Amino acid sequence: MSDKNQPISGNDLARFSGPNTFMRLPSATALDGLDVAILGVPMDIGTSWRSGTRFGPKQIRAESAMLRPYNLQTGAAPFDSLQMADIGDLAINTFSLSDSIRIITESYDAILKHDVIPVAMGGDHSITLPILRAIAARHGPVALVHVDAHADVNDEMFGERETHGTVFRRAYEEGLISPSKTYQIGLRGTGYAASDFTEAQSWGFKQYQAHELWFQSLTSLGEQIRDEIGEGPVYVTYDIDSLDPAYAPGTGTPEIGGLTTPQAMQLIRALNGLNIVGCDLVEVSPPYDPSGNTALTGANLLYELLCVLPGVIRR
Ligand code: MN
Ligand code: MN
Repeated sequence: MSDKNQPISGNDLARFSGPNTFMRLPSATALDGLDVAILGVPMDIGTSWRSGTRFGPKQIRAESAMLRPYNLQTGAAPFDSLQMADIGDLAINTFSLSDSIRIITESYDAILKHDVIPVAMGGDHSITLPILRAIAARHGPVALVHVDAHADVNDEMFGERETHGTVFRRAYEEGLISPSKTYQIGLRGTGYAASDFTEAQSWGFKQYQAHELWFQSLTSLGEQIRDEIGEGPVYVTYDIDSLDPAYAPGTGTPEIGGLTTPQAMQLIRALNGLNIVGCDLVEVSPPYDPSGNTALTGANLLYELLCVLPGVIRR
């Protein structure tokens, strides 16, 4: 038996009871001794269309009760390898996006004083800019794997420079990410101009549009990205709207013609071996997710991310 925190088994306590933590892991307030801190950022005031991601963390936690600790396909045993706990939600200010962004960076600064990998459940994608500010302050500019229907590189929206659609332009401008090691995967949808996507390519971003990936395994793309990034620190940000709305309808800005669930799993699994220093899964909007399948899929993708964190053993 492992001496590390384990999720409560569905064979020991009925899945519909127990704590509403991710996979029913222990909750923690102190970070000492933790390798991985799972947290929620329940916020939707940075979104431009449908709201509801403020309920994302709670619903992802609820659906995660279905998950079991061992990855039957990859052999990963994340909870035997790393000490993980759910540290609850950040206390964002639901009346102020700018104050929430400050709170997120300060919270991450405090978390990253410890040698811990933060794993966030969003929340809309605006949470990732303040996270990257803290990550870059701790690790320097990071490689970025960004899976999304949208490039999120607008200059501003309604005059606002910090929204869920401006994240990666700000991260580029502020030097938080290495542009030549920034990968945007799953882009699609209608645009305002061709430059919506192509401008970021001129910064060095590598973009893989969804239609270029239709009907293909993403294993080789993931392995290529892994090999190109190499040893340095990497942040992975996973917007659930990268998936086709058939698989993940419960999201704020859905786009047809997206990735499949198996492609999402192939991509994450191929990232095994990277030095992932943090990750997030964002844009799950439970009010638009009547079956719970979007939150369930989000919980599973977070689990797959836990399975490729550095130090996770396979057996
Ligand atoms: Mn996004
Ligand atoms: Mn998106």
